[in-house]
Amino acid sequence: MRIILLGPPGSGKGTQAQLLVQRYGIVQLSTGEMLRAAVAAGTPVGLKAKEIMASGGLVPDDVVVGIISDRIDQPDAKNGFILDGFPRTVPQAEALDELLKRKHLKLDAVIELRVNESALLSRVETRVAQMRERGEEVRLDDTPEVLTKRLASYRSQTEPLIHYYSERRKLSTIDGMMAIDEVTRAIHRQLLALGAVEPKTHARSAAKAVPAKKAKAGKKAAAKPAKTAKKGAKSAKTAKKAKKATKKGTKKGTKKTVKKAAKKTAKKTLKKGAKKAAKKVTKKRAKR
Ligand code: AMP
Repeated sequence: MRIILLGPPGSGKGTQAQLLVQRYGIVQLSTGEMLRAAVAAGTPVGLKAKEIMASGGLVPDDVVVGIISDRIDQPDAKNGFILDGFPRTVPQAEALDELLKRKHLKLDAVIELRVNESALLSRVETRVAQMRERGEEVRLDDTPEVLTKRLASYRSQTEPLIHYYSERRKLSTIDGMMAIDEVTRAIHRQLLALGAVEPKTHARSAAKAVPAKKAKAGKKAAAKPAKTAKKGAKSAKTAKKAKKATKKGTKKGTKKTVKKAAKKTAKKTLKKGAKKAAKKVTKKRAKR
């Protein structure tokens, strides 16, 4: 499976990518991580990227495309990968299309994590606090000033990718404001719907997702007679009540109930009415 995670800084791409890695046994290819490693190692790419990254700008397309192309060729990426932070510009997306074609690889999906911009700053602040707590080195670009610049470059250069992939029918948008595990579940459901993951091959996820659907249907089917009977009984009760209310002319019965009861009682006996209601419910459910 090959997917792209798209979203502004702080949208949860990194977190989701890690969870998806655990779930599907594929690798996370984060250009940001690779560039940070290059900076730390002082490689020529790192030297080129250092200043740009610290200021919140984008590293030149040819640099990141080169990194990704090499990384995709590594044996651990054969099973599939999640691109996190790449592509970030339309030329990068075009280059990716080209190199995937050359390598005879197919892109399964592009998942956009949509979040409220107002939440991004506090999310990044939380990330910084957590990294400090863990004793990890805090990213130089995780400051409010640089974040503003990164957001601006997301809007102008990366957001057009939403249109790019939606035109190619690859885009799935997920509400990134939900809780982390809910986002993961929504991504999983989407991947299942697209046929990008096999329900059977992922016992943990399958138990949660596919059978969850089937189980629900099964549960519904199993519960049908009981529920139908219950509903029938309820209808009978309601009809009885409403009939009383209509007869007495009291204001106890609600308008709706009175209307319903008037219809029902006019047609059949109470027993027959209940039976019919039960049948109707069963039919409706069968249709579903
Ligand atoms: P990230 O970890 O994805 O937030 O990336 C951190 C920084 O690395 C970005 O602000 C950019 O400076 C640089 N970077 C990461 N990925 C790319 C990319 N695909 N294109 C250009 N610059 C990138």
